Amino acid sequence: MNFVELKSGKSVEGDEIKAFRSELKGPRYLYLMAGVHGDEVEGVYALQQMFEWLKQQDDLDFPTIVIPVLNPDGYRSGSRTNSHGVDLNRNLPAKSWVSEQRSDRYNPGQAPLSEPENQFLDKLFQKFPPHLIITLHSWKPMINYNGDCKDVADLLNLYNSYPVVADIEGHPTPGSLGDYGPEKYQSPVLTFEFPVIDDNNDLKSIWEENRIGFETLLQSDLVRAQTKSS
Ligand SMILES: [Zn+2]
Repeated sequence: MNFVELKSGKSVEGDEIKAFRSELKGPRYLYLMAGVHGDEVEGVYALQQMFEWLKQQDDLDFPTIVIPVLNPDGYRSGSRTNSHGVDLNRNLPAKSWVSEQRSDRYNPGQAPLSEPENQFLDKLFQKFPPHLIITLHSWKPMINYNGDCKDVADLLNLYNSYPVVADIEGHPTPGSLGDYGPEKYQSPVLTFEFPVIDDNNDLKSIWEENRIGFETLLQSDLVRAQTKSS
């Protein structure tokens, strides 16, 4: 698969937010993104491996956008939030957005879409509308789906046995991409939570237990835009 680099976005501190589009264009795109939370290096590493693999697949081609690290400032400093201390996954202009924050971890920002990283993401969504967004995080291993992509979650679960959940109980996510994607763009969102590196798991082993699942997914029809008969 061939990709072209798009014009980068800019973070709060002026770092480049890189984004890539498949040479093949289409009315709607698969999004693969990571590094929304800068300290979640597991997802960033996994997406690097996935992206390199995709580029080597001559027989695959479908409209795709890849955003390797949405929050480069947080990634550089090892922090969850961006340089304004805002949780980018609480700052999107979904109806659920609230100004109150549960803790510093979940600072939603001054206003919905106040942060340049999310403004860049939303511009990409407008220009290259998503049909499925896969966003790679790390926490308790789980596959969280919002909107109509349980089939995607179930396929990955066959390979990693991570719990598949529609909502995370006791863990509301106002202003999250999972709320925003289906609501604004009619695009389901898969928020994939890798396990976190510890004494028993490093980046390579975490990716290895998921590699076949993701490669199978990317070769399946589930990541291609469905032409719905109506
Ligand atoms: Zn996260």
